[in-house]
Amino acid sequence: MFICPICKSKLNKEEKIYLCENKHSFDIAKQGYVNLLPVNKKHSDNPGDSKEMVLSRRAFLEGGYYDCFTDKLREIINFLIEDKEKITIADCGCGEGYYDGKLEALDCDFDFYGFDISKEAVKSASGKYKKYHYAVGSCFNMPLETQSFDIALNIFAPMVENEMARILKTDGYMIYAVPGKSHLMGLKKLLYENTYENEEKHTEYDGFDFVDRVSVRQEITVNGEMGVNLFRMTPYYFKTELGAEEKIQKNNGFTTEIHFDFLIYRKNGRA
Ligand SMILES: [Zn+2]
Repeated sequence: MFICPICKSKLNKEEKIYLCENKHSFDIAKQGYVNLLPVNKKHSDNPGDSKEMVLSRRAFLEGGYYDCFTDKLREIINFLIEDKEKITIADCGCGEGYYDGKLEALDCDFDFYGFDISKEAVKSASGKYKKYHYAVGSCFNMPLETQSFDIALNIFAPMVENEMARILKTDGYMIYAVPGKSHLMGLKKLLYENTYENEEKHTEYDGFDFVDRVSVRQEITVNGEMGVNLFRMTPYYFKTELGAEEKIQKNNGFTTEIHFDFLIYRKNGRA
């Protein structure tokens, strides 16, 4: 279900390459992923999360701190698929694949395709989740076939609604996870003098009907190095002055609320 980034035709998987009908070919890396990000679309040599950020994310997520989110995500998908025996799922901006891995216990069989702009993240995901198909690619130019997916996930990734609508089948679902009002308030209080709740948005998207908002909140306590790992996953990592990591380490742990909102939309076929 990957498409050629040059001519947009379907890619066929061969032993060591993906090949389109116009003979554009893309090597399969030894971890199993394929790079479908056209060179001229890159704005830097290594766009997206760095290796250090990917390692921090994986260490933090594998600590199980966000498992209330993955449990809820699985519950939502199980509810949406009703009695289907097999479905197709895309994760648009999949990162290092932790959330994808937690879908293995879904109630039905599924084919899974994920992509992310960060090569380091995709390398890490495809090295770990061998049954899934991974590519380096952009949310603005998704390397996925049109009208092909039952479920498209966007977990904290850039929202490109026309691309989400394109890859979904009619009546397919988009699940968009965004930070809830009080997400990481404890971490923010440690870093900043003035803290504000995240804005709660309600957005309608062309081609979609809004179905539901499902919130998950919990309080977690994060110690030492794990606090730094969590910090490196957040936007504050880019915005906060130097010394933030030292501050977190010195504090030797903190308690914070975590809060995700899952926004569920159904593709209506009217776009
Ligand atoms: Zn091609």
